[in-house]
This record gives sequence, structure tokens and C-alpha cells, in this order.
Amino acid sequence: MRRPSTAGVSFAAVGPDGACPSVTVQLAFGMYREIDHEGKSVWRREQHVPDPIPVGLESGSRDVSFSSGEVTGLRVNVRSVPFADGMLATMTLVNDLTPEERNRSAAEQSTLFQVTLEILPDTGTRLIARPSRRAPVDDDDWSSALLYREAREFAAGHTCSADWTLNPDDLEAALAVRTAWIPEATVEAVSPDGDEVFQGIAQDAEDPLSASWLAGSATPDLIAGLQRLTRAYARWITLQEGKISELSAPFVSVAEGHIREARRVLGRMAAGIDFLASSEAACASFRLANLAMATQREWSEHEPLRWRPFQLAFFLLALESAADGTHPDRAVMDLLWFPTGGGKTEAYLGLIAFVAFHRRLSASSPDDGAGVAVIMRYTLRLLTTQQFIRAAAMICACEAIRRGKIATPYAGKLGQEQFSIGLWVGEGATPNSRQMAFDSVTDSSKPTPKQLLHCPCCSERLAYTQAQPIDSVMVRCENSGCILSDQTLPVWTVDEDLYAFRPTLLIGTIDKFAQIVRNAATASLFAVGGPAQPQLIVQDELHLISGPLGTMSGLYESALDLILSANGTKPKIIGSTATIRRASEQVLALFDRTTCQFPPPGLNADNSGFTVVDRILPGRRYLAVSTAGRSAKFTLQAVSASLLQTALAGLGENQRDAYWTLVAYFNSLRELGGALVLMQDDVHDTIRLFANACGEAARALRSVQELTSRVSQAEIRQMLETLKNPAGHDEALDVVLATNMVSVGVDIARLGLMVVNGQPKTMAEYIQATSRVGRSRVPGLVVAVLNNAKPRDRSHFETFRTWHSTIYREVEATSVTPFASRARDRALHAVLVAVVRHLIPQRLRSPVLDDNSIQAAERMIAQIAARARRVDPFEADVEAELKARLQRWIRRSPQQYWSKYPRTSLLQAAELAAAMRAAGRAVGQAWPTPNTMRGVEPATNYRLVEGLRGPDATQ
Ligand SMILES: [Zn+2]
Repeated sequence: MRRPSTAGVSFAAVGPDGACPSVTVQLAFGMYREIDHEGKSVWRREQHVPDPIPVGLESGSRDVSFSSGEVTGLRVNVRSVPFADGMLATMTLVNDLTPEERNRSAAEQSTLFQVTLEILPDTGTRLIARPSRRAPVDDDDWSSALLYREAREFAAGHTCSADWTLNPDDLEAALAVRTAWIPEATVEAVSPDGDEVFQGIAQDAEDPLSASWLAGSATPDLIAGLQRLTRAYARWITLQEGKISELSAPFVSVAEGHIREARRVLGRMAAGIDFLASSEAACASFRLANLAMATQREWSEHEPLRWRPFQLAFFLLALESAADGTHPDRAVMDLLWFPTGGGKTEAYLGLIAFVAFHRRLSASSPDDGAGVAVIMRYTLRLLTTQQFIRAAAMICACEAIRRGKIATPYAGKLGQEQFSIGLWVGEGATPNSRQMAFDSVTDSSKPTPKQLLHCPCCSERLAYTQAQPIDSVMVRCENSGCILSDQTLPVWTVDEDLYAFRPTLLIGTIDKFAQIVRNAATASLFAVGGPAQPQLIVQDELHLISGPLGTMSGLYESALDLILSANGTKPKIIGSTATIRRASEQVLALFDRTTCQFPPPGLNADNSGFTVVDRILPGRRYLAVSTAGRSAKFTLQAVSASLLQTALAGLGENQRDAYWTLVAYFNSLRELGGALVLMQDDVHDTIRLFANACGEAARALRSVQELTSRVSQAEIRQMLETLKNPAGHDEALDVVLATNMVSVGVDIARLGLMVVNGQPKTMAEYIQATSRVGRSRVPGLVVAVLNNAKPRDRSHFETFRTWHSTIYREVEATSVTPFASRARDRALHAVLVAVVRHLIPQRLRSPVLDDNSIQAAERMIAQIAARARRVDPFEADVEAELKARLQRWIRRSPQQYWSKYPRTSLLQAAELAAAMRAAGRAVGQAWPTPNTMRGVEPATNYRLVEGLRGPDATQ
């Protein structure tokens, strides 16, 4: 392993009155000498502090040699170039010592350890921020430039990282800049309670943030209470507006844009309140939604629900266009942008309850509003099933209200049909058919319908029953004292039951929507031609719908949007994310909607009115260690061992728990591969070494587990429970080895410690993964081990402090290109087939096209092509390709949509076609069609055949 022989920092300086700036360089380092001590060879450390070196920063490059005691042959290289405001300088310590012999001892004795290089400005010289390397190129960049205008980089490291001390009297200058080997940064916590303007909006008992007060108040009080929320926000906007004049010129128009957007959002919230004031059905639905939310909170947490200002504001923002199909804001996606763990789910659960009630109360007969009202989508199964459990409680509360189990004036007015929830996941997690559910009772390898284990109301274990394979699966709470025990719970987890009972809230993975092409039974979910179609789509974790998955989703979305618009109104789409850039481009490509990002930004990144940096809660602490001079594996095990041992020996019993379980994050399964052995062998040995050196008891690693896609869903759920065991518990985990599985949906309050092995591929992933620790009152500690041999890792190490100060700005924009040519090859035809099946009468089960069908299909092609032009004007071939597909469809006159016999069917599985092709057989004319959006390339099995040689083996 080669050790680096240089380390330095770059910085900027200005001299007095245009004169050349000058600084003083203060160096310190340690060297080790091998000496004989009582017949044994030992190493003794010598501390070196050479005399301060005065350096003028004239333009050019030169060396300043120096010595320290007997050590000679060291130099500092100084390079300076002028820039607009002064000089840019790089100061590098160079170790030219060459060992006399080629052995370990000689090499160690020529090495400088614990090197520090500090630069102090001479009188009259100021160390100023380095010029930004980032030129704003679009509105999004300008917006960030305004929000983060106070974040400055005073130094960047080379080989090492850099740190600086700010001048408290002059925030534009640093008192010193220096090298740093373990750089640190703090990402501040965000308070979901919002700006102080929201503090006074409760008047005595009349608290618009209290769900139960909202549920029970008379209309005039309710409206007045909600208006106190909008008035508070208006006050905040006015305060910001007053500060615009203090900004420097290029930011003024950017800030004015932000304020305009905030006023627009305020206007929509106010219109939402007016809608509640003018519509009895809407106001009643709003009260009932609050009652349902308060009820489920009482069940799960045994405490009243108090909305956070941003949750209620988002609810008010979106409710009118969610209820009214003709509202112009149906063309707007409302995107909730909030750091992880802030309570996004509650905000849209409230809206979902509102929509569910409003459909019943606004229809001429309440049951006309039955059927699927809301579709909620996730990308990962783990998160889907977790959120299903939360949403099930809300739906059970709605259903208890409908049945009159919770007293309201609306008993008997909400229809005969249940409010219900369905989990649409499949793929080995839930049963596709009732038969499969029946088989799962005796065969544990089959997916089980038992996704909700405990009663949302009383927490007793639920009973699942299914007498015959043809019966639907019934869920019941058998606790006779529970208000939900008189009837079965309105919960469906078998696909076949979902299609039959059309749950009010359908929760599914985004992949599952590929089924609309293949499976005619899905039509019942969309109620084409029925009294009410699904009207609200909730897309969680929007940033995950990017890349290939996003591109495929965008294609299928164009079919789904047409299908759900059959009754003449588009569905409303809302979503959420914690990490996104250029959201409007992604939303346009995916959903063909404009974007309203909520909350809109203010003038600073730390206050948007609804989100403010928390000055009381500690933030998350980030440290980094570079692998320079050591192997990546060695560094990882040394850091892990040190952290693990310190949790035992360095922390008191009352502090230990938060840092007991080390979450080790890896960027891929491949990198995680050797880590289990590393933890069991190397880390174990190093812990003993540290413990012996410090005279401590060594920590024993008893439980090291893996949280990755290689582990089954059931095991993951078990592990999430195990992770809650505190330090000292017999089954407390010592180490969890995790991949990006951990980044979404793992919410364990006690976790506080993480090692990140290598910079993740995207900043969104880094933020999401590291946000898993320090989620409650425990300050999280994240230690990144960054590989010096990888340029990206190294760059992140050298500028560690800088980019953490603007971490949300560093999120990369993602690309979604649903109409790109390779995406069209995969699945453009699937869009055509989906809309023909679901929208043209009689075509659901038969692909035989008559003249009327052909004309209708041509109209749909025009609609899809128009969408493609809006999304991506450069992909001009969409219409021609779809027309050609339709012509081929007509020529082939297939008798079925999808079968194993591709001769007579229109479509075949992409996997099957790939297998045929791999075996050298003809694929046939049926169009290969993906069965999921995740597998962009179909996979096929292969077999290695040995010894296939010709008759003459020598040739
Ligand atoms: Zn119960």
C-alpha cells in the first residue's frame, strides 16, 4: 500500500488595499523512532512543531524548504494565481524523505503522522470564501443559489480534508484554514412545528391544529380557526417580503419568484377553506376525516392528534382539486417536500379520508361513491406493507364511523358499502388467488394473506379465516370488547378479493400496475363507465421513480391516466419526497402534470415557514475517514471496531443504547459480501487490540445480521422488531449490515450510529440512508469511510464540510424518459393494449377489433401521441409507431390477448420470448411484454454444457 507523500489545502485571500496577501503557515506532525527498550524493540513518538513559515502569496509556484530538529528534506509548495477579488492559493506539505533501506522499519521512520497544516492571515490579509464553482444555469439553480447564499467554502483539502474557523466579527472571512483528517459536519434537524408565526393560532380551546376540535366544531368556528392558519402564513410571507430589499441585486427577482409562489399556495389554501365554507358535503367530509384521523391516533398512540402546520396546510391546499373533478388544479401535482420522518404520511392520510367521505356525501346515492377512491403507490414492498398497516387503521376508523360505532350525525348516510383497504403487491408477498391463500395455511412457502397481524383498534391478534379455496379471506378481531369485533375488518390482501370488493383505498407497489395490460380482472378497480372512478393518486417517495423504473412507470402512467380519465375528469395526483431536484421535469415526464412543490421556499434554506431548522434538537453529526495509506477493508474494520468498543467502554449506561447497534451501510451486495466475515474475524481481533491497549473489557460481538434484498420479507419484518431491543437485552443486535434496503421505511427510534462504506451513488441515497439514524431525540452519528483510490470518494472527502452545509442542494436531478426509443421498444405497445382493453366496450376480454374499435383506438393513439409531445417534443415517432402497431394488430387478428401460445395471442411474456431466443428458437409474432416495470431486460435461465466438441477434439 503506497502512502501519500503530500497533503495540502487550497484557499483564497485578499491583501490590504490591493497589496499582495501574506500568511503564516504553522505545521505540526509526529514521527516514530524504533528504539531498543530493555532488549525489546519499541516505537517512540516524537512531536515536531517547525518554526512558523511566513509566505507571501505572489503569483506563481515555489518551494519553501524547512527542517525540524534532525529532520531535513521537507518542503512546502506554494502555488498562487490571481482571481477577481484576490489570490487563490494552494499550500502543500511535501515529504521528500526516502528511506535508506527498503524495509518496514525504515519506511515507518520516514513517514510523517498526524500532520496538521494551518494557515493564519497576516495583519491586513483576509482569508475569504473560495469563488463558487457552480454557475446557475436555470431557475432551479438560481433558487438554490438564493437559499444557500450564506454557505461558503473557505478551504478544500488535497489528500486530506479541510476545515476553518470563522471570524465571529466578520462572517465573510476566516480566522484560519487548516488540514483535517477526520472532517466533521452537522446537518441540522428540521422542526415540523414550523415558524413561530404558527404558535398563536390556537385560541383557548379553539385549536385548528387539533383534529378532534376540527371534527366537532360548528362551521363558522371551524372556518375561523382554519383562517387563523392561513393568516399566520400570510404574516410569514409579508415578513419575508420585507427582507427582499436587503438582498444583493441578482437575488431580488429570484426571491420575488419565491414569494409569488408562496402567495399562490396561500391563495389555494384560502380557496380550500372557502370550499369548506360553501359546501356542506365538503365541510362534513372534512370533519369526518378529522374524526377518523383522531380516532386512529387514539388507537395507536393513545394520544390526541395535533396536526403540524404543514400537514394541515397541505390538506387544505389539495382538498378542493381532490374533491372536484373539474377543478383546474387537477392538472397540478401537489408535491409535499419534507425531510424524512417529518410526518408526510399523516398529511395525505387525512386527505384520503376526506376524499373517501366526500364521494359518499356528494353522490346522489352514497353507494354511487363506493369502489376504489384512492390509489396509493410505493416502490418497495417493505414500505408498502408497513404503510398498509398505518393506512388500515385510518380506513378501519372510517368504517367504524360509517357503521355508527363512533357517534356522528352521519350514521346511515354513508351508504351500505364498506370503506375498505386493499393491499396489491403480489410477487410472492401476497397471494394472487384465493386458492393460493388457502394453500398458504398448510404451505409456509406460499405468500400469506396475513399482512395485518394486530387489530388497529385494540392491538389483539387478528384471526384470518377461509373455509374453502373459493371463499374470500376474512379478517376478524375476536376481542368482544373491541368496537371492530362485531363484523369482519374491511381489509383485503388477496388480489382476487381486491378485484371483487374494490377497496376504497388501494395500496400497491408501482410494479403491479403492469398488470393492467395482462389481467382483465384489474378493470373492476378502475370502474370505467361506473358512477365514480378512482379520483386521487398518492405517489410516495417520488425520487425513487427515476432511471429505468421511472421511465417504464411513465409509459404505463400514460395508459393509466387515460383509463382513469374515462369519465371526463383526470385523477388528482399528489406525492411526497424528501430529496428531489428539478421536480417539475420529472413530474411532467411521469404524470403530464405541472408541479406545486409544498412548502414553497422562502429566502433561506433554513426557513420555509412550515419547515424551520430546529435550534433545540441536535442535528446529525457526520464524520469521514479516508483510506489513504491503508486498504479499504482495513479502514472499515478499524473504524467499526473502534465505534463498537467505544459504545461499551466509552459511554455511560444511559447513553449507550443509541450507539450500541452499528448500522453498516454498503453500496452493493457485492461490497457487503465479505463484511460478515470481516465483522466476525478482523473486527473481533481489533476490538481486543483496542481493549487491551486501553485496559478495558473487550466487547463481544454476538449478533451480526444482514438487512438486504437477500433476506425474505418475513425475516426483514422480524429483524425490524429485533432492532428495537435495547442494549443489554439478550437479543440486542451488535451490527446490521445493510444495503439500500435500509434507506426507505426503516424507522427505528433507538438507532444512532452508522458507518457508510463508500460514497453512495447519489446524494438522495446518501441522505435517505444516513437519515435512518438519529430519528428521535438521539443525536445521530454517521462515519463515512471514503476510498482514497476512488476519485468520487476522494472529492467528497476533500470538501466534506462544504457539501454537507448545502446537502439538499447537492441532490442530483434524475431523468425519466418514457418516450425514448428504447423505452418505446419495450412497452409502448403495452400502453396501446391497456387503453384498448380498458376503454373500448367489449374489448376487455377479446382483442378482435371491429371498425368501431379501430376508430376508437385511433383516437386514443392521438391522445397518447399528444401526451408524448408535451412530455418530450423531440421524440416524434410515437404516433407513427403506435399506428404501425395497430395495423399489425389488425393484420394478425389475434384471438387472445396473452397466452403461452404466441401464435394466436397478441402478447407474450417478455421472459418467455427471451428464453426462446436464447434457445435459438423463433419467438413468433406475439409482442413480448414485460410483466413488471422493474425488469427492464427480461431474464432467462441458462445451463452450462461441458464437452461439446467436434469429432476431432484437437481442432
Ligand atoms: Zn380489536
